[in-house]
Amino acid sequence: MSAFSAIGEHEGQTTEQDEFTPGIEPQATWCPGCGDFGVLKALKGAMSDLGKSPDEVMLVTGIGCSGKLSSYFESYGFHSIHGRSLPVARATKLANPGLEVVAAGGDGDGYGIGGNHFMHTARENHDMTYIVFNNEIFGLTKGQTSPTSPKGHKSKTQPHGSAKDPVRPLSMSLAAGSSYVARTAAVNPNQAREILVEAIEHDGFSHIDFLTQCPTWNKDAKQYVPYIDVQQNDDYEFDTGDRREAADMMYETETALHEGKVLTGRFYHDADRPSYGQEKRSTGEMPETPLAERYFEEDYEWERSYDLLDPHR
Ligand code: SF4
Repeated sequence: MSAFSAIGEHEGQTTEQDEFTPGIEPQATWCPGCGDFGVLKALKGAMSDLGKSPDEVMLVTGIGCSGKLSSYFESYGFHSIHGRSLPVARATKLANPGLEVVAAGGDGDGYGIGGNHFMHTARENHDMTYIVFNNEIFGLTKGQTSPTSPKGHKSKTQPHGSAKDPVRPLSMSLAAGSSYVARTAAVNPNQAREILVEAIEHDGFSHIDFLTQCPTWNKDAKQYVPYIDVQQNDDYEFDTGDRREAADMMYETETALHEGKVLTGRFYHDADRPSYGQEKRSTGEMPETPLAERYFEEDYEWERSYDLLDPHR
């Protein structure tokens, strides 16, 4: 019995979902009860719902417990370095726009070390889905304070309690320019799967703040329950297409999390904004034939970018 089946990862799984389980199944090294299993299961389910096959998908991960996702998911994969999953994912999408690109990493990886990449990938609206495993801690390196750890949180690095306010990932994402922003939780597998489907289908930068409990190093976060789906609760009526209303709802959600109330759901969706690739192709800066196809054409005549400029203009 593998570590997956030991915690029920295969329960209710369809044949299609099994396509995304590696043939030589690696032994998962996530701790029992870790929220990361929930992300893996939801991602497999979403890809199956979308009718994708492993050779249509590229999964790029950063460093941390979350980074192991690419080892346990059957597709093209790249386990990159800390905070750098997004540059690799961007290059992949630009070189081969036909691939469904998903990037993933933890809260320290995405909102701290790779924060600059997060901001600019969102600003440029690259067409990909970015999953941030948010467990409010550095898990793999054994429990240090992360950018999303709440103020006062005690850890090895802040034994007297963190003096810093945590980042607000949803607000930060909206301000930077993400065109789809949602929060879900590993304890809410049906919602997580539906949100992943929407995010992957969206043409532009989709950011999912995915609450993943770390029972080993962050017992304060418990299981992120009970959670409230803001789309299912009349107390939270707002328009996900309205930036100002979305911003207000995000701020309330981020504040509520540290007061013991877990709000999840879709927060912002702009379906009209062109993606980075669409913009580039419309200005002629990016050739219609993707790099990945040109690379294999032996007689293709390469041109340098400065050849595109008219020096007499
Ligand atoms: Fe999951 Fe935490 Fe264990 Fe890492 S240390 S595998 S985040 S429970």
